[in-house]
Amino acid sequence: MPRFRAILDTMPAYKAGKAVVSADGRSHKLSSNESPYDPLPSVVEAIAEGARQINRYPDPASVRLTEALAARFGVPAEHVALGPGSVTVAQQLFETVSEPGAEVIYAWRSFEAYPLLADLAGAVSVRVPLVNEEHDLDAMADAITDRTRMIFVCTPNNPTGVPIGRDRLTAFLDRVPANVLVVLDEAYREYVRDEDVPDGLDIYRERPNVCVLRTFSKAYGLAGLRVGYLIGHEPVAAAVRKVTIPFAVNSLAQIAALASLEAEDELLARVDAVVKERTRVREALIAQGWEVPPTEANFVWLRLGDRTLEFASACGMEGVAVRPFAGEGARVSIGDPEANDTFLKAAAAFR
Ligand SMILES: *Cc1c(COP(=O)(O)O)cnc(C)c1O
Repeated sequence: MPRFRAILDTMPAYKAGKAVVSADGRSHKLSSNESPYDPLPSVVEAIAEGARQINRYPDPASVRLTEALAARFGVPAEHVALGPGSVTVAQQLFETVSEPGAEVIYAWRSFEAYPLLADLAGAVSVRVPLVNEEHDLDAMADAITDRTRMIFVCTPNNPTGVPIGRDRLTAFLDRVPANVLVVLDEAYREYVRDEDVPDGLDIYRERPNVCVLRTFSKAYGLAGLRVGYLIGHEPVAAAVRKVTIPFAVNSLAQIAALASLEAEDELLARVDAVVKERTRVREALIAQGWEVPPTEANFVWLRLGDRTLEFASACGMEGVAVRPFAGEGARVSIGDPEANDTFLKAAAAFR
């Protein structure tokens, strides 16, 4: 038997959101925070055109996409690093800072990938429990030691949806030493409407140890193609590029991301519609008697405790797939109005 790293025995396999079908054939996938919309015709056309060239390797440096992102956000191209999904950029970040004893702090519960990536990279995870479904930034700052290399801050937080306000975030960052990298994971930034929630890019501009992670998977509807990016100061972006496998971002992903930036107005109009549905779903749940943390993402969080799995299977009977975290709660993505109505009916029946 080949010998594998001992850490593999302790790592749970990633559980993808499963599709479910009701007895009468309905199926709504509200388990992975995807865009509920079909891809834009202009993006599909660009991908089809790009398919004619797939005998060739992609541009290894994704020059056009890098420059388009730099122009879009008003940052130097050297500050942009791309990867096949922002989860892979996160993995690259772990690889840039990890060595035996290196500590990485993050809130828990938060994005499921963080502990796996830490384990894989050989970093020590320091998990700081959420308080009232949000980051306990004081406790996170208290957890910093001279072994701390990196802190992940997920805002809005997956799976609770709660973002971090400007003053709290700034006060926290003031306590982080300059040699500790802070990663603002803003996978859901496009869904944020609360003006008290800062744009991570404004913060990165003023702080060399802060970088921002964003993705084309959620608001831009390209989850299936895998492309995400980091914006950070030159040493950070350069370190990430160094650990990137050549040709990691495939040519169709590059093309689709460029086409999506060109069609940004159309895509952001869809995001607006999802935000309206989010408000409707949250208010309906509250009217049903649920407690729902204020969410700025494209999902809602229900803390169900022991009833979580039972709730997920009740939703499954109605053809609605949600994301359960056993013993804790369920995350439910905002879908199209029909999917949301079906979910709301299941939630009402469960109460
Ligand atoms: C979905 C998600 C990502 C990554 O998505 P990719 O598809 O890998 O770009 C990163 N961070 C958080 C918090 C997410 O929820």
